[in-house]
Amino acid sequence: MGFRPRTIIEPFRIKSVEPIRSTTAEHRRAALAAAGHNLFLLHADDVLIDLLTDSGTGAMSSAQWGGMLQGDESYAGSRSFYRLEQAVRQITGLKHVIPTHQGRAAERILFGTVCGPGDVVPNNTHFDTTRANVEFRGAEARDLLIAEGRQPGLYHPFKGNMDLARLEATLAEVGRERIPLCMITVTNNSGGGQPVSMANVRAVSALCHSHGIPLFIDACRFAENAWFIKQREEGYADLTPLLIAQELFSYADGCTMSAKKDGMANIGGFLALNDDAWAQRCKDLLILGEGFPTYGGLAGYDMEAIAIGLGEALEEDYLRYRVRSIEYLGEKLIAAGIPIIQPTGGHAVYLDAGALLPHIPPGQYPAQALCGALYLAAGVRAVEIGSVMFGRPRPDGGEEPASLELVRLAFPRRVYTQSHVDYLAEALEYVAARREQIRGLHMVYQAPTLRHFTARFEPL
Ligand SMILES: *Cc1c(COP(=O)(O)O)cnc(C)c1O
Repeated sequence: MGFRPRTIIEPFRIKSVEPIRSTTAEHRRAALAAAGHNLFLLHADDVLIDLLTDSGTGAMSSAQWGGMLQGDESYAGSRSFYRLEQAVRQITGLKHVIPTHQGRAAERILFGTVCGPGDVVPNNTHFDTTRANVEFRGAEARDLLIAEGRQPGLYHPFKGNMDLARLEATLAEVGRERIPLCMITVTNNSGGGQPVSMANVRAVSALCHSHGIPLFIDACRFAENAWFIKQREEGYADLTPLLIAQELFSYADGCTMSAKKDGMANIGGFLALNDDAWAQRCKDLLILGEGFPTYGGLAGYDMEAIAIGLGEALEEDYLRYRVRSIEYLGEKLIAAGIPIIQPTGGHAVYLDAGALLPHIPPGQYPAQALCGALYLAAGVRAVEIGSVMFGRPRPDGGEEPASLELVRLAFPRRVYTQSHVDYLAEALEYVAARREQIRGLHMVYQAPTLRHFTARFEPL
């Protein structure tokens, strides 16, 4: 008669607290107007629960803070670097470990070294910085996600999988000479934080290797992906997340990593790879832009925090709590009839604003309007992933909308508790019940690139 609790509690107690600030509806209305209805332009102090991103926003553990005091700030040969190198090698088995200030620096160095005009880089779905770094080299970033991954309401255990038939067709069409490497993103951030199965990574690796093409993993959420494999893929239930991660990386020739995600740190990243010649060229580029190879744009204490965080990200109690909190919010929203991407992913819940607000056409940015409404009602900051972010100008002066109008609620790691999640569910139910009152927006300013960060709107 062992106690089997239904409630999955936060697997930590709180040693240091940071107050969050409640504001009045009137204050929020003024703040939102001053920000041009773009939540990126709010002061964070005007936000009660901040779900803008899970990147670098997590809480570090007492072990990480303790480790930071022992960081070795030596310019060359820092002890903290060797610690990080050992932690990365233990998980990935990769030979060369190159620290960078964050994930996109690892991408810039990798693509700057191996990628050129006319090349094609396949991926399940390129994250936006990955795509930008590939395109900056004059190469094509080609997304080859399985068709199920693009249908919000459809259940599939591994909606992040690469479409093997399309990958094979790409390899045949483009040829080995113009594909310097293939990537696979775990979990698939831009596709809803959906996992990739071990079988899929194994098959992608075999296919790439049969053509002599190296496979790199975009590993930002490798631990969350390992947890989904443990839960959903046959044969993995009894393995530890570490063993699963080790197998996953055994199929790869390298990886890029943002330690702001499953590195459990506030800043940092790395590039790891086996090829000696590529590693040498990457280190040369690293020195040019980031720093000496044993710190690469990080302080010794950052490397210490990441070395410890990588192990903590793989702890079962932590992963169970993390994935469960997100699934729990998803269940509440589904029960309330609020449309979301299903199943919920590893780091975020995605609301289908297009389905929730059918009275607002894409050209009036329904997902951006929903973000504003949620902030006004409850002080919650989410992010639009729709036509503000991905809309493309048409030659006739109009705009090609994004394929989906989504609002992402991304969860910082180890920051919020179940009562915060209950509050969120209540807030979303309140907003959804008043959906008819939400009006579209008119964009009054946009920058030529990455307009979502700085665009300004007026309500219609
Ligand atoms: C965050 C992220 C990156 C880029 O990392 P930064 O640390 O933000 O530069 C790359 N790929 C994926 C999948 C990400 O989520």
